[in-house]
Amino acid sequence: MTDRAARRPAVRDDLADLSPYGAPQLDVPVRLNTNETPWAPPPAFTAALADRISAGLDLHRYPDRDAVALRTALAEREGLAPDRVWAANGSNEVHVQLFGAYAGAGRTLLLFRPGYSAHPLLARVTGTTVVTEDLDEDFRLTPEAARAAVEAHRPAIVCVASPNNPTGIPVDPDAVRALHDGFDGLVVLDEAYVELAPDPGEGRALLDELDRLVVVRTFSKAWRMAGLRLGYLLAHDWVVQDLLKVRLPYHLDAITQAAGCIAVELAEDVTAHIADLVTERERLLAALRATDGVTVWPSAGNFLLLRVDRAREVFEAMLASGVLVRDFSTLPRLEGCLRVTVGTPEENDRFLSALKESLR
Ligand code: PMP
Repeated sequence: MTDRAARRPAVRDDLADLSPYGAPQLDVPVRLNTNETPWAPPPAFTAALADRISAGLDLHRYPDRDAVALRTALAEREGLAPDRVWAANGSNEVHVQLFGAYAGAGRTLLLFRPGYSAHPLLARVTGTTVVTEDLDEDFRLTPEAARAAVEAHRPAIVCVASPNNPTGIPVDPDAVRALHDGFDGLVVLDEAYVELAPDPGEGRALLDELDRLVVVRTFSKAWRMAGLRLGYLLAHDWVVQDLLKVRLPYHLDAITQAAGCIAVELAEDVTAHIADLVTERERLLAALRATDGVTVWPSAGNFLLLRVDRAREVFEAMLASGVLVRDFSTLPRLEGCLRVTVGTPEENDRFLSALKESLR
């Protein structure tokens, strides 16, 4: 080692073996690997945002630290007071703030496997210890297993996604109740894909019932704004008070706050594609079910999980023909699994033919 290298600070011991978040961002014709919406937001949205910026967003000033206008608009949609809503840069940052406030060094986060790969990563960055329990054979969480897991681990936080990523399976509300009643910590329900689910009101309804529930949402999926980085939570007011302690000063920029307000104003337009997306999801599901050598799970999100033989080879062959999906095939519980995001009808057709070709 050179003297220079010897003097270099080492990353924290607890992060030494951590791999950065890494869904590939490749420039290929059909990108179906990160669960974005394939259609850009409508022109009315972009025009309103451009107008708002040109009319003067006071970009020489810091943004509203507490994003009051945005939180008020979001709160109205949910029939909640604004002090029960919080917003940050994507739901990822909402999670980091929750872990920063309620977990961190010496505390534990309970997750279920398979689940969203960034949850453990974000938790570890905050110094939180992560413990994991397996979902059942069908990738479901029963109320009994939920209760047993929180009783066994007594975590500071338990986090479940509904619909879950990468399975697309919604969580049984009774399992959320069982988690909540089985310990004294925080229950985080990550509803990143909820707008695409058959029953999108479940988490919101549970919030009226459960004292320590937090519902996390995002504008990255059904709201078609992954490029803007906006997420939010619905919770009890004390959660929002606690998050003020860990958020960075002026964490949410003025353009994103304005974009969120405009999206809420134009909600009908911005989310008008959802019915088409769901139709495409069901068409893809039927086509995959009819494909020899493919096992597929029904999904309440904007993606489908499938299992094939020689999954890595299939992934590579599809990529070579310009179709990028997500390869989970070497992960525990997801052996042989690929995940495909629902794209435009044309993208889905290209995916289906690339898949059939590579299964030959
Ligand atoms: N939660 C889940 C379950 C997700 O799948 C994703 C995105 N892949 C996120 C949260 C992160 O979303 P955001 O863009 O809001 O940070």
